Amino acid sequence: MRSVRRAGLALTAATALILAACSAGEPGQTGGSATASGSETGSGGTAGGDTITIGIKFDQPGLGLKEGNDFTGFDVGVAKYVAGKLGYAENQIKFVESISSQRETLLENGSVDMIFATYSITDARKERVAFAGPYFVAGQDLLVAADNTDITGPDSLNGKVLCSVEGSTSAERIRDEHAQQTQLYPAPTYSECVELLSAGNVDAVTTDDVILAGYAAQSQYEGKFKLVGQPFSEENYGVGLPKDNDRCEDVNAAITSMIDDGTWEELIKKNVGESFTPNPSLNPPKVQACA
Ligand code: GLU
Repeated sequence: MRSVRRAGLALTAATALILAACSAGEPGQTGGSATASGSETGSGGTAGGDTITIGIKFDQPGLGLKEGNDFTGFDVGVAKYVAGKLGYAENQIKFVESISSQRETLLENGSVDMIFATYSITDARKERVAFAGPYFVAGQDLLVAADNTDITGPDSLNGKVLCSVEGSTSAERIRDEHAQQTQLYPAPTYSECVELLSAGNVDAVTTDDVILAGYAAQSQYEGKFKLVGQPFSEENYGVGLPKDNDRCEDVNAAITSMIDDGTWEELIKKNVGESFTPNPSLNPPKVQACA
């Protein structure tokens, strides 16, 4: 049984890699907008310019989701609010996909002006990019099959196969703290991890609780998964900005007013409220001073 399952994982993993290779270059160029807008308005283009290019996730229900030409989720709502405060109407926003492993690069090469993509503020990332915020605090958790009884938290991962996403703090934490006990399959996106879990090819998907709750609540997975519910990190979601930006203070002011005027609460209720309750001792957070 075990070897069949492993073989299945290898096959699916290979398929995922091939798919990733075929679509390489897509994130950040979707709709051909990132490059064009990046060069027309310049990265960190001034408020009131034609358009602003914003990186989001395209495959994370409740946070950043692209369905046809519709973009929904908490990150999208926060992005629209902040862009509005910076002087951009909704039709001046170009959303482009920013998968976890490409976020720093997209900011560095000017493909995007800002990123709202479940993007944790970390010291390592601050070497390459800047952050406004935080505007939300999540925690790393585990998503398992509904009938799984042996994974109860980060201390019960012995011999387990986990899926997480390359370039995320989630994958890094497993490598740093659980490499001895676990096998990590790094996928390009969380939706691919969730498919592997659904097919029984991995034992758990690990990333932020709010992300996992969004997948578990999708109708096609109804009753299939459960969130373990023992968060083992603090993920402060920041707004990614190019390192030499002049927007950080304005973005922080916008986030503060979003929290103060009740929009934050509304966006949480509307986008994740049914599947997830944010940790009330950490949310809503206070913004940090810009560096
Ligand atoms: N918040 C974590 C990170 O920024 C995990 C989620 C993600 O990969 O977007 O790495």
